Amino acid sequence: MSEAVMTRTATAAATTERPPLGIYVHWPFCFSKCPYCDFNSYARTDVPQKLWREALLAEIRNAKRLWRAQPLGGVFFGGGTPSLMSPETIAGIVSLAFSEWHPAESPEVVLECNPGDITDERLRLWTEAGVNRVSVGVQSFDDGVLRFLGRRHDGADARRAASLTAERFGRFSLDLMYGHRGQEIEMWRRDLSEALSFGGEHLSAYELTLEEGTPFYAEARRGRVLLADEESRLAMRDAADELCGAAGLTRYEVSNYARGGCECRHNLGVWGGGDYVAVGPGAHGRGTRGDERFAVMRERSPGGWLRRTRGDSDGDGDSDGDGAGAGDDFRILSWGERRDEAFLFGMRKADGLTRDHLERESGCRDFGEVLGGSGGLERAKDEGWLEEDELGLRATASGFDRLDGLLSRLLSTAPN
Ligand code: SF4
Repeated sequence: MSEAVMTRTATAAATTERPPLGIYVHWPFCFSKCPYCDFNSYARTDVPQKLWREALLAEIRNAKRLWRAQPLGGVFFGGGTPSLMSPETIAGIVSLAFSEWHPAESPEVVLECNPGDITDERLRLWTEAGVNRVSVGVQSFDDGVLRFLGRRHDGADARRAASLTAERFGRFSLDLMYGHRGQEIEMWRRDLSEALSFGGEHLSAYELTLEEGTPFYAEARRGRVLLADEESRLAMRDAADELCGAAGLTRYEVSNYARGGCECRHNLGVWGGGDYVAVGPGAHGRGTRGDERFAVMRERSPGGWLRRTRGDSDGDGDSDGDGAGAGDDFRILSWGERRDEAFLFGMRKADGLTRDHLERESGCRDFGEVLGGSGGLERAKDEGWLEEDELGLRATASGFDRLDGLLSRLLSTAPN
């Protein structure tokens, strides 16, 4: 780190406001395991709901030790498949969360759902539990695509779930997946058009990737071609931009489109450098204490997390003993880690990494300086992949297509 940056870092207080606090609740169970998924998730249908409810509630109570009093912007239930949680557990968590932290203006409570779990009755119970936005993992309306992806629902389930959700929830998002072999551009356009026909405010379009440790990855290593070629994948992304744009949804993040003001607030908070409480075995969290920022990053198995949260030894000679889990694995982030996270999260957004966000994490508003003055930033701007102005730094449309490689190159030569 240069001396100038170090001097600024020493005085780097929270110069601008962070987004309000969020809570991420990780429910690690699914009905079955999809062959492309490397999430911390486990196929299990006999989950002891009461035991899990008590453990999750204990962790929320304890989290107040780390994430002190501040307005709570919302709760995000992710997974796994959190639509398999009992509505009673969801209600208990929402109610406790908003009694431990006071609600910010218009708090958002998001539940990720699998289409097969959506019924009239469940939608009603989720609403009563405080959920005000659902995100439905439709992936496709095409039976063949869904079979290829190893999903347990079919196109008819997806249509029924999307239609019921649109009837019952003002705020919802549909997730689609693209980029696998055999998916023609016209098939993808049909999926997009059908998803948009439900009139939602938000759509996520995720590109299929091969993640190490998954059955798809192993098959690809054995020579099976599972992904569409790069040209087709870029054409599918362009089709998503075109059809979502025509429906009034703008791309506001690498994989997400929304009407103005209808973005997922929890995710915007995370990408914007906000604090979020980690609850559950695979949950990550971030928090701020004075000038320091801490991280909770877990990849625990359900059994290990449950033992620890209930106060027993987890085998490493340490024991919480107080029904706690939140503080067990936090660590202070270094200056370089905070700078890297600001880039990796902030640059995912279409409006990019703001100078305010950069300054909060690094004490400096100058992108070139925090990157060590390397020519990489200037080259990326000259190539037309990044653009910089007084507000911040952002990827252009062509920069978005190569964002991971671009950031990895910029950060690999930056000082720590
Ligand atoms: S339902 Fe979602 S979290 Fe569960 S295995 Fe499939 S992709 Fe992974």
